[in-house]
Amino acid sequence: MSTTIPFNRPVTVGKEFTYIQETIENMDLSGDGAITKKCHSLLEDILQVPKVLLTTSCTHALEMAALLLNMQPGDEVIVPSFTFVSTINAFALRGVRPIFADIRPDTLNLDESKLEKLITPQTKAIVPVHYAGVGCEMDTIMDIAGRYKIPVVEDNAHGLFAKYKGKYLGTFGCLATQSFHETKNFTCGEGGALLINEPYYIERAEIIREKGTNRSRFYRGQVDKYTWVDIGSSYLPSGILAAFLYAQIEARQQIQGKRQQIWEYYYNHLQDWAQEKGVRLPIVPPECEQAYHMFYMLMPSLEKRQALIAHLRSQGISSVFHYLPLHLSQMGRKFGGSEGDCPVTESVSDRLLRLPFYNNLTEEDLARVVTSIKDFC
Ligand SMILES: *Cc1c(COP(=O)(O)O)cnc(C)c1O
Repeated sequence: MSTTIPFNRPVTVGKEFTYIQETIENMDLSGDGAITKKCHSLLEDILQVPKVLLTTSCTHALEMAALLLNMQPGDEVIVPSFTFVSTINAFALRGVRPIFADIRPDTLNLDESKLEKLITPQTKAIVPVHYAGVGCEMDTIMDIAGRYKIPVVEDNAHGLFAKYKGKYLGTFGCLATQSFHETKNFTCGEGGALLINEPYYIERAEIIREKGTNRSRFYRGQVDKYTWVDIGSSYLPSGILAAFLYAQIEARQQIQGKRQQIWEYYYNHLQDWAQEKGVRLPIVPPECEQAYHMFYMLMPSLEKRQALIAHLRSQGISSVFHYLPLHLSQMGRKFGGSEGDCPVTESVSDRLLRLPFYNNLTEEDLARVVTSIKDFC
């Protein structure tokens, strides 16, 4: 049998080792040295964001957001049920109660038409997730949030460099978070970033990220000694990780170009088949330029999805399902979640399947995946 095709395989672009070596030679090992600052400036320049801070993960960037927004026990945060646990866990750590929103059947993003009735006087944030790097309906979400004066934190783990109506995802909310986990488009193994669009939050974000101290101001010479000024933690990645990441961000056109080709190969070769078999391929609204983070298919039923995963596995191809509804998880139920709360999420979660997707999948690999799918049904 031919070699197996994994679901994901992190890929280096070439300069990672050079930059890591330079970083070691420069002894730029801890956080916020020269290479970390280069990452910050590069992302700030591309995205035109007032402040970017690398973090140890997207989860930690979300935790920083919860601290910056002064989340208190009893507060509520609206999140889609169809997301990764960190989107809400970061807030639950502060005693926040999750309010689970259902998703749109087309983009699988938070359904903005159901958002307003979830708002209560306790709502302290709305956290939309740009699923698969396709933008949420940000005009409507920002309009509702603005009317109720509720901060928006975008979980943009999938969507770096994607756009909604010509504007980068991650630049709509007062805060946004990125992930550089090895399963994401750009990686350093484990890492993330907090994007700060509202300058009001910058100074305190630096303090929270530096163990609650004003060390950043000390290094800039703005204070003559540094001290404990607020609560905080250690959210700075090492310079070695920043060096790896810098190489990846620098090669963004190459990486995104390759991913676009893979996505389009699947789409073009499966379109007719999908139509015939009642399989739904991804929908990207015309106002969205997507990030090519993944390629998913919605099968007609749970049984068909499971059978296709098993068939592909027998052919040495790894395909995987995705999020289980958070409102039905053990924790979600403790917060009152029950069957039927988010019907679209429940149905999609049973039927969604993701195909192998990583930067150096060859055309031969792709052809093998497509043929195996078509052989099956
Ligand atoms: C990957 C992911 C995260 C967590 O990212 P880490 O960097 O691993 O903490 C959060 N939210 C979403 C939507 C993700 O896909």
